[in-house]
Parts: sequence; C-alpha cells; structure tokens
Amino acid sequence: MTVRPGDSEASTDTRTGSIVAECSAVSRTFGSGTTAVHAVRDVNCRIPSQARVALTGPSGSGKSTLLHLLAGIDTPSAGMVRWPALGHDRHHRRRKIGVVFQGPSLLPSLDVTENVALPLLFGGQADDTARRRAGAALDLVGVGDLAAKLPDELSGGQLQRVAIARVLAARPALILADEPTGKLDHNNAERVVAVLLDTANAIGGALIIATHDASVAARLPDRWVMRDGQLFTHLNADRDMT
Ligand code: ADP
Repeated sequence: MTVRPGDSEASTDTRTGSIVAECSAVSRTFGSGTTAVHAVRDVNCRIPSQARVALTGPSGSGKSTLLHLLAGIDTPSAGMVRWPALGHDRHHRRRKIGVVFQGPSLLPSLDVTENVALPLLFGGQADDTARRRAGAALDLVGVGDLAAKLPDELSGGQLQRVAIARVLAARPALILADEPTGKLDHNNAERVVAVLLDTANAIGGALIIATHDASVAARLPDRWVMRDGQLFTHLNADRDMT
C-alpha cells in the first residue's frame, strides 16, 4: 500500500504500539526568495514503536533533513513534529532519541569507551554502569577490542560502528540512523543492521534507517521513499492485513 504526501492517513501502522513521533504537514525550507531550497515539503508521518523503516530516495531528496526534524535537532519552517510517547520534557526526550549521524561525531580527546559512555553519564548513570554498558554495546557491533583507542586511531568504518554503539548503549525509544553502513563492507553492514534491529526489538523502540544500500533496505519491513522533499510511505504488507 502506498500513501501519497498530504494524505492524513500517511502513517505507519497505528493499531498497536505507542506513537514515538509524528509529523503533521511538516516543511523545512533553507534560505529564502529565489535561492530557497525546499528540503522537506508537507510531510505527514506517524512512527509507532514497532516501526522498522528503510528511508530511501536520491541524494538531496531530503532524508537527512527529515531525520533531523524527527530527532528534534532541527525545527520545521511549517507544520509540527510531536513525540507523543516520549513525554513533554525536552531533556528526557533528547535521551530517548538516538541519532547515528553521517559525519564524524566522536570527541577526539576521549577514548572509544569514554565516547560511548559519555551520554550515559550525562543521563545520570554511575561511571561503572556507563562503562559496562559501553563495553557491551561495543562488543555487539564488533569493536570491543578498540575500547582504549582514540578516534583518530580508527578507520572510517570503525568510527561508524563506535558511533552506532554509542546510540545503542543509551537504549533509545527512537533510533534514527543516517546511512549507518555507508563506510562498511558487506559483512559489517549486515552485522550493523542486525544489531540495530535486535536492539530496537529488545528495547521495543522504533528504527528508521536512511540508506542507499538495497540489501540494507531489504532487511526492513517498512519502506519510506523521498523525492524532492516529499515523503511516500509504503506500509508493510503483512501488518496491513491484520
Ligand atoms: P539527502 O539526505 O536525501 O541527501 P538532505 O536532507 O541532506 O538530502 O538535503 C535536501 C536538500 O536540502 C538538498 O538540496 C540540500 O542541499 C539542502 N540542504 C540540506 N541542509 C541544508 C542547509 N543547512 N542549508 C542549505 N541547504 C541545505
């Protein structure tokens, strides 16, 4: 089933699970006048906790911008993003949303464990708990042996996996991953997607992965496609039957 933009029913399944995020007629324009870029146009979406979404579309179609809006780190030019299941407190909400960014996001002066543990410490975890959870998350993505290294001692793919571990360690209710496998070979890409899915299942959280990789997209039951800032949501066929 495909739902067109602007349709009020443009949502993933809402019959079960709580809604972690939803957008209503959301647009994001950069600049103004003749140079304005309409990165996201009139998008409606609803993300229940069981959503497992592959967000695809050509480069420049608005995927990153939409993820940033859903993460609450960018503000719509029009329309509204809400996080019904995450409460009204902005700090609490920030901790419940994990974003795997495309670019470098680790602090260069902290080692790998410290980088992964840092958000947990900010969230009030004790130091030993934060370190233990950081170690477990690093093991999950296959970089436990790099725990004591500094970011500039790692390859691009290793950095990407540490950034993913940092998000997983925080056990967010909504995981937003922007091309998380872009620098990984096929085996590590498979592993990272499996870990993201396992983690979302274990936490009972929603997962959205923006990807150009067809084999990554194929692992996720829900498909969203962006074109020129517009979102087309393809609902999971099995869930549609229920
Ligand atoms: P995608 O993730 O699909 O590649 P983006 O969301 O990064 O697409 O970009 C969508 C459009 O918005 C592109 O034309 C891009 O150049 C533009 N854009 C994104 N961020 C900014 C920004 N901060 N300032 C100006 N234009 C931007």
